Amino acid sequence: MHELSIATAIIERADELARADGTEAVSAVTVRVGELAGVVPDALGFAFEVARDGTALAGARLVVEQVPAQAWCGPCAEEFPVGMPPFFWCPRCDQPSSDLRSGRELEIAGIEPSPAPA
Ligand SMILES: [Zn+2]
Repeated sequence: MHELSIATAIIERADELARADGTEAVSAVTVRVGELAGVVPDALGFAFEVARDGTALAGARLVVEQVPAQAWCGPCAEEFPVGMPPFFWCPRCDQPSSDLRSGRELEIAGIEPSPAPA
């Protein structure tokens, strides 16, 4: 399962970020996942729950921000959604474009530290 290795990588990276910040525990991790990143958000969420045990993220929630795939059309000077499966053809001027501007993201957008115990 490909999402498990991605979830493990996200957890390792978030764990490093948390430690660098002096954060003991993380309550939430937000990741940006592009429409074309090849990741199923539900599967990623499940893999995250399996992989988080024993890390600073053991009590953390995974928040997935989906990023739509958009390509740039030069003649129209506008972006258009390529959809899934991707179709690189501008709907306005009916011309092909392979200038993908977003949709392949797979990155940590932020981590939220747990409130310090009282
Ligand atoms: Zn166009």
